[in-house]
Amino acid sequence: MLELNRIMDPKKTPLQAVKGMNDILPPESARWEWFEAKVRSLMQRYGYANLRTPIVEPTALFVRGLGEVTDIVEKEMYSFEDKMNGDLLTLRPEGTAGVVRAMTEHSFLRDGGKRLFYIGAMFRHERPQKGRLRQFHQVGVEALGFTGPDVDAEVILMCRQLWRELGLVEGRDLRLELNSLGQPDERGLHRLALISHLEQHVDLLDEEAKRRMYSNPLRVLDTKNPALQAVVEAAPQLMDFLGAESLAHFNGVRAVLDAAGVAYRINPRLVRGMDYYNLTVFEWVTDKLGAQGTVCAGGRYDKLIEQLGGKPAPGVGWGMGIERMLMLLEETGQILPSPTLHAYAIVPSAQGLPQVMVALEALRAAGVSVVMHPGQSSMKSQFKKADASGAAYALVFGEDELAQGQVAVKPLRNAGATQYLRSLVSVDDWAAELRNA
Ligand code: ATP
Ligand code: MG
Repeated sequence: MLELNRIMDPKKTPLQAVKGMNDILPPESARWEWFEAKVRSLMQRYGYANLRTPIVEPTALFVRGLGEVTDIVEKEMYSFEDKMNGDLLTLRPEGTAGVVRAMTEHSFLRDGGKRLFYIGAMFRHERPQKGRLRQFHQVGVEALGFTGPDVDAEVILMCRQLWRELGLVEGRDLRLELNSLGQPDERGLHRLALISHLEQHVDLLDEEAKRRMYSNPLRVLDTKNPALQAVVEAAPQLMDFLGAESLAHFNGVRAVLDAAGVAYRINPRLVRGMDYYNLTVFEWVTDKLGAQGTVCAGGRYDKLIEQLGGKPAPGVGWGMGIERMLMLLEETGQILPSPTLHAYAIVPSAQGLPQVMVALEALRAAGVSVVMHPGQSSMKSQFKKADASGAAYALVFGEDELAQGQVAVKPLRNAGATQYLRSLVSVDDWAAELRNA
């Protein structure tokens, strides 16, 4: 039952968006579209196909996929019971689990590996602050069914290429941190050593670390508490527990990155927030966004598909926060193109309206972006609106011109330019003049 008395408001106070969930309004939304177009073009060139999964998934998917002792599952998920049937559901906090579920459900890996990408909203109940929202957006790639290390390197190289196409400079704006988490048995040995290290310093640990030292000790290394840094730094390193195969995989990734000239720092304490990772993990970080410096993060997850009930198959991918990317672009002074309006149509009299609107359809079909002045108003106020619209031209559909099957074209951007006539019968012949504005 909806609690109507908590919802109805006789005073009709204006409603507001949920805290930490933003409207993306024009002209800001144009920046999003510009960014997404860059991403789609990149994906197409690397052969990654778009996948769209539901925003709501069974809660069990994330608990089983991400691991019970993770920030997301412990405290960040928007979970609820479907009142119609009692199902336990969650607004997706990340993209990988849903992609894996979909691929398994539709037996998509039957005929070999798949390269996929998604763009969409994610939800986490975090404390809203700069670069940290409750509804945020990610681009992500997932390459499923490939053992690597070539594909690990490929997904990292895609990021580097995207930075270049966005005008970002590797080294100055972003840098790559890389680590290997090895395989579960290697992590098991390291885990024992780590627990005994933490036990030796238990009096220095905070509550969260004490709670996690047996359930997920690796995550203790990922603590943001400065008081724990000394203990963390002295901890045994997973890299020292890797066997020959894991090392060969890591070196395979590094060999490609080295050959391609991608600079990286090996960060033995990079562990990532989800339990599903093994072998390669990486983050692209920036110094330009304060505390929320990770813009893109990912790695390999060879056991996840099996863990979610699918036929065993490896996977590797990353997720990128779009809000943080756009903030970084702004911070680095990238000028993002604003959408151009080619023309603004001025209509002095309602009489010619049908003829005008038919002409505008022809112009739009010929690729011209044109907005018509809505309703009737004085020429003066229509020209004011035309100027304010940012259009390069005003199209003046005076009665005399219309009677001749013509329109007056007036350039708005160069003061001295005079208006000239163009024929409405042959719009295609001159549409390019407007388009190239
Ligand atoms: P953080 O350490 O910042 O909490 P995370 O490890 O939780 O990040 P992932 O789950 O790996 O991040 O998500 C990948 C990317 O998604 C992050 O690098 C970041 O750019 C973005 N992201 C994650 N959580 C948020 C959020 N609450 N608001 C905005 N962007 C986010
Ligand atoms: Mg987080």
